[in-house]
Amino acid sequence: MMAAAGCASDHWGLAAQKVWLFLDYDGTLAEFSPTPETVTPDPAVIALIRRLADHPLRRVAVVSGRRLGDLQKLLPVASIYLAGVYGIELLTPSGEMIQRADLHEIRPFLARIKPRWQALIEGQEGFYLEDKGWALALHARFAEEDAAARVLSAARDLPDNAPLPDRVRFLEGRKFLEVAPSLADKGEAVAHLLKTYRWRGAKPIYIGDDDKDAPAFGVVRSKGGRAVQVSNPARQVTVEVDCVLESPAAAREWLDGLA
Ligand SMILES: [Mg+2]
Repeated sequence: MMAAAGCASDHWGLAAQKVWLFLDYDGTLAEFSPTPETVTPDPAVIALIRRLADHPLRRVAVVSGRRLGDLQKLLPVASIYLAGVYGIELLTPSGEMIQRADLHEIRPFLARIKPRWQALIEGQEGFYLEDKGWALALHARFAEEDAAARVLSAARDLPDNAPLPDRVRFLEGRKFLEVAPSLADKGEAVAHLLKTYRWRGAKPIYIGDDDKDAPAFGVVRSKGGRAVQVSNPARQVTVEVDCVLESPAAAREWLDGLA
């Protein structure tokens, strides 16, 4: 990570300007859940997002690796954009639901991989296989380092993975592996939202905490916006950001200043 200063409380003088906020959820708005499939709405987060959504100069999009259905439960807030599975599933403020990939195209591939990955983690401590419909994620957050490295590389190198259809990609992270449609990318998602739902003169700001947010940081910066990182020692971000907030609590406070 590049050394970046803390985020000033004057929010770059944006108080009286239109700001489109793109927000990651886990590790950014809320602290990490004990298991990836835990869906526990946080009343403080909901109230904050509602205040931002009601502000005439603010627009909110939440961009997450979680399924759209989970995001809807976590954020039952009207008039915001929700992007699930890294932007594959979108929900607009008008209630329109958009799927940006073809499930019939990806599902047979995932169905082939799933039992193989399941077999790799069978009887092993600390692993969790999450089926998101559009994607399969292998979490090893609570596994021993050696076991995690061994299982994840075996999962990555399965003979069944190749030849890959063009429309599939692997997302690799620390103690984490996911296979998803190639459009599953937070940078793609932000670029798509900015282009499709234009808001003239608005400054885009992206707030996220890990390597999967990095492409989106680049997109907002290329559009004259700002990248804000929430510090996450376990998952370093290696791209340049404008400033760093030390925790989800600090991120909520900073956002509260914009609301
Ligand atoms: Mg995150």
